[in-house]
Amino acid sequence: MSNETNNPAPANFIRNIITDDLNNGRHESTYTRFPPEPNGYLHIGHAKSICLNFGVADEFKGKVNLRFDDTNPEKESEEYMRSIQDNVEWLGFEWDKLCHSSDYFERIHGYAIELIEKGLAYVDSLNADEMREYRGTLKEPGKNSPFRDRSVEENLNLFSRMKAGEFKEGEHALRAKIDMSSPQIIMRDPVIYRIKFAHHFRSGDQWCIYPMYDFTHCISDAIEGITHSLCTLEFQDNRAVYDWVLDNISIDCHPRQYEFGRLNLKYTVLSKRKLNQLVTENAVDGWDDPRLPTIAGIRRRGYTPASIREFCREIGVTKKDSLIEMTVLENAIRHDLENTALRTFGVLKPIKVVITNFPEDKTEWITAKNHPKDESLGTRDIPFTREVYIDQDDFMLDPPKKFFRLGPDREVRLRYGYAIKCNEVIQDDSGNVVELRCTYDPESAEGKTADGRKIKGIIHWVSAKYAVDAEVRRYDRLFRLPNPSNAENFIDQLNPDSLVVFPNAKLESSLGNSDKKARFQFERVGYFWQDSKDSKPDKLVFNQIVSLRDSWARIEKDQQNN
Ligand code: ATP
Ligand code: MG
Repeated sequence: MSNETNNPAPANFIRNIITDDLNNGRHESTYTRFPPEPNGYLHIGHAKSICLNFGVADEFKGKVNLRFDDTNPEKESEEYMRSIQDNVEWLGFEWDKLCHSSDYFERIHGYAIELIEKGLAYVDSLNADEMREYRGTLKEPGKNSPFRDRSVEENLNLFSRMKAGEFKEGEHALRAKIDMSSPQIIMRDPVIYRIKFAHHFRSGDQWCIYPMYDFTHCISDAIEGITHSLCTLEFQDNRAVYDWVLDNISIDCHPRQYEFGRLNLKYTVLSKRKLNQLVTENAVDGWDDPRLPTIAGIRRRGYTPASIREFCREIGVTKKDSLIEMTVLENAIRHDLENTALRTFGVLKPIKVVITNFPEDKTEWITAKNHPKDESLGTRDIPFTREVYIDQDDFMLDPPKKFFRLGPDREVRLRYGYAIKCNEVIQDDSGNVVELRCTYDPESAEGKTADGRKIKGIIHWVSAKYAVDAEVRRYDRLFRLPNPSNAENFIDQLNPDSLVVFPNAKLESSLGNSDKKARFQFERVGYFWQDSKDSKPDKLVFNQIVSLRDSWARIEKDQQNN
């Protein structure tokens, strides 16, 4: 259950079902579970499922398990398991029990034998291609396997020899005997056990037969006493098998499965397989690359757990898959940081400004607000000296009239400080601006000017003498297409500008020894925090968590208007 409380969850069809079940006495309390397969890192789509399952437990004072659905030993690992636990905790949730489907292998095997004994399961010896052929299509019914009518004894014998490792992989499989002509293809005698000589990261080499998802999931839910088994829409057809299994084995619990829509996010991919490909092909810097929609990446980028929970609340839970704008996610963190992040100054692309009428050795300390609205966040003193840095973007050699920043013979105000006027521009041999020589108006402190003249532009700056050097990384959409999953080769659609590095940024001195986990707004630039992996005391690295405004909304609008 969550440690911090969020806004109340809005009503959705699942909450309505649960409320109804509780009111009608069908259940006394709720028991949900989040059942990831430990075969990769969790992504923001999983966060939706986590917030739903743990949110139900929270709201209805029920219980919730974290269950690892670990029945594909080749793809699963301890490392993935640990990262999943860590991610769920980071999101602010606590599970009642930590479970594994592998905890139930013995019992699941027992239920398979029960089905065989009841004549409801048989060992099939068709190979995979033949099985597919016999299964039929949506238009054509399937055909019974020639092995379908094996006797109970023969089935028990073969199944025990499968378990004993007497056969090769694929030689036999155990299938539920349901109906080869069912209009639901999934009901055409689904395989419930297959032979796999794989070392399992928990059960070791104890088993060489493993139960399939459709057989494992319902039984695991029933063993744990789950009331509402919430999964995504692609499992809608599987519900028939879920119910068939529980109706035909001796277990006195029959959870109900409900399906909800998957989350998809624009300009990224939410599939463990695709994410895995990005990582293994080195298209990104590991699972926690700040551009990835993995929980690890989002976390390293600087999103807060509260912002992710808020995002999940915002998108809601419906019976349709959704394709959500990235802006919805970004707005959730902006909303969080707007009120809490301390304001500071950071200059990403510095140009030096020499204030020729300010004494060389003097430092003047200027009081600056830590937050424009929240006075409780206090103030700090920032040093003003003869040399300061401003951002290259705040200067133009030949500015248009409406450029209210600095240009030759123009005047601009340094935020919280004085007005400065540019008298001389120093360029190198190739014409790059390397230094600006300015004068300041000593009577222009606190928004005033000596003669009452108005100065429109206000820019950020840092003292050259006191500034801290840092590398700043700015991130953008990972893909250049809104729905890269539809592209023939999604990796070709990566956005080449998804990471822009500013190696020579100059930051306000207070950032030099700031809390490594603090999130800041660099005024006029964006929200930032230190990169947990690469930032070191002698080489600070800051990540942009999110920009101040949604620049993509403007780009898209411009495109529509043209
Ligand atoms: P992927 O398709 O990314 O590999 P998965 O569904 O195979 O994901 P699981 O480990 O099986 O991953 O998922 C655990 C739970 O999270 C399941 O209940 C699944 O339905 C849910 N889930 C996975 N992806 C999403 C998503 N995009 N939106 C909502 N829920 C999701
Ligand atoms: Mg899955």
